[in-house]
Amino acid sequence: MAPNQTEFFGNGKLDFRSRKGTMPSLGNGSRTPRHNTTGTDDAETTVYTWRDVAKHCTAESCWVSVRGKVYDVTKWLENHPGGKEILLLAAGRDITLAFDSYHPFSTKAESVLKKYEIGEVVDAEYPTYKPDSGFYKECAKRVKKYFEETKQNPKNPWPGIWRMMLVFAVAAFSFIVMSGISFTYKGIEIPEFTYWVRFLAAGIFGVCQALPLLHVMHDSSHLAFGNSELWWKIAGRFCMDWYAGANMTSWHNQHVIGHHIYTNVFEADPDLPEKVENDPRRLVPRQKYQSLYKWQYIYLPPLYGILGLKFRFQDLFETYGAHVNGPVRVNPIPLSQWAEMIITKIFWATYRIILPLTLTNIFKYESLAMYLTFFFVAEFMTGYFLAFNFQVSHVSTECDYPNGEEKTDQISDEWAVSQVRACVDYSHDNYLTTFFCGALNYQVTHHLFPTVSQYHYPAIAKIIKEVCKEYDVEYKVLPDFKSAFYAHVKHLYNLGQDGVAAEVHMG
Ligand SMILES: [Zn+2]
Repeated sequence: MAPNQTEFFGNGKLDFRSRKGTMPSLGNGSRTPRHNTTGTDDAETTVYTWRDVAKHCTAESCWVSVRGKVYDVTKWLENHPGGKEILLLAAGRDITLAFDSYHPFSTKAESVLKKYEIGEVVDAEYPTYKPDSGFYKECAKRVKKYFEETKQNPKNPWPGIWRMMLVFAVAAFSFIVMSGISFTYKGIEIPEFTYWVRFLAAGIFGVCQALPLLHVMHDSSHLAFGNSELWWKIAGRFCMDWYAGANMTSWHNQHVIGHHIYTNVFEADPDLPEKVENDPRRLVPRQKYQSLYKWQYIYLPPLYGILGLKFRFQDLFETYGAHVNGPVRVNPIPLSQWAEMIITKIFWATYRIILPLTLTNIFKYESLAMYLTFFFVAEFMTGYFLAFNFQVSHVSTECDYPNGEEKTDQISDEWAVSQVRACVDYSHDNYLTTFFCGALNYQVTHHLFPTVSQYHYPAIAKIIKEVCKEYDVEYKVLPDFKSAFYAHVKHLYNLGQDGVAAEVHMG
């Protein structure tokens, strides 16, 4: 591992020439002899650094590394059952953990991969986990058995489809009410409602903007909604890009590549503050203390409301503009995704901003102030709804933060165990909570089996709990959202107090 911190992590400052589309040289590997069993140097292995691998991050040259071996999978791109897009997202990276968690029930992918081996990688971009002791394999074996015995499709899209039909119906109705649109259809009259009913409708629309993201979009981004790339692309992008005006490519980099692999790993998980200083949040002890943090448990939760709005700009300026997403390098973005991003942003701005402000005979806003009030009520509601659901599961007194207390190149746990320790579940077996948080109350299950539809989590969580017990890994479940929320605020409070870092739960 490279000893220097800024050299070790991408952080957007790495001299990563291929980002700008200029890739002057490919394959800077050096050949070194590999000793065979007779002790003679009759075989040679090409050795690469992670930077060499990182240069091959396009459809023209797509390399990945898994368990220290480098593979040139360019020719496999078109045949990849999970689709080309997700493989290109993984291009140029160590994808060991994504590879395992995206192929949990089959060894077929491993045998395909072997054909494309071209060398070995000698270092790593981020801190590395210990190898699997058998814990994850055991979880996967039992979950696979569950699906075989119950004859269920792990990616069955239908529970998501009917739920979202309901949500979109409520969204359409609340949008009409919020906008003051009045009409009569087949004898049913929709009048122009009073201010406070419209205010309430704006809040409900905000919730309905968040729910498809927590359900279909989230599952699609993990290839868990239906069994083909078409499902994930159409359903996921419909909810994320067209309906909510955010961007799937940005989410893929932040969530799938960053957060899910390096959950709560400081300086690798994009959901955590990026640097040791100058962030309004202090979530890990390694961050430099400022007296302002004393009040973070008070000022941060209200700020979560702007999260949704921030996403709409962050994807434009960071993912597409600077080709970074926190500590994650963003691979070159194809022209088709640029076009899609621009068209969907225009679409969202048209139906949420331009039409309501110009078609005044249909959208009955009495003043600009009234429009802005309802617009921000909806947006803040979406922001709060998403932020609280995501925050309570990871930013909590119950969670671990690898690399957060002391800088390390080696995480003390294997990946799957680290996932269990970096997540906290709550409110198990509560149908309403599970629906409203998109099954994020089963966070451990989601992190271990992201490619399984969220509607299976309650059943699978029971299996994982059993394996955790056998392997002596603590699986934390809080009784309800209230206690999860309290543990979140308590963590903000603890880290806001100077010198109390040792008191937080660091496993
Ligand atoms: Zn996820």
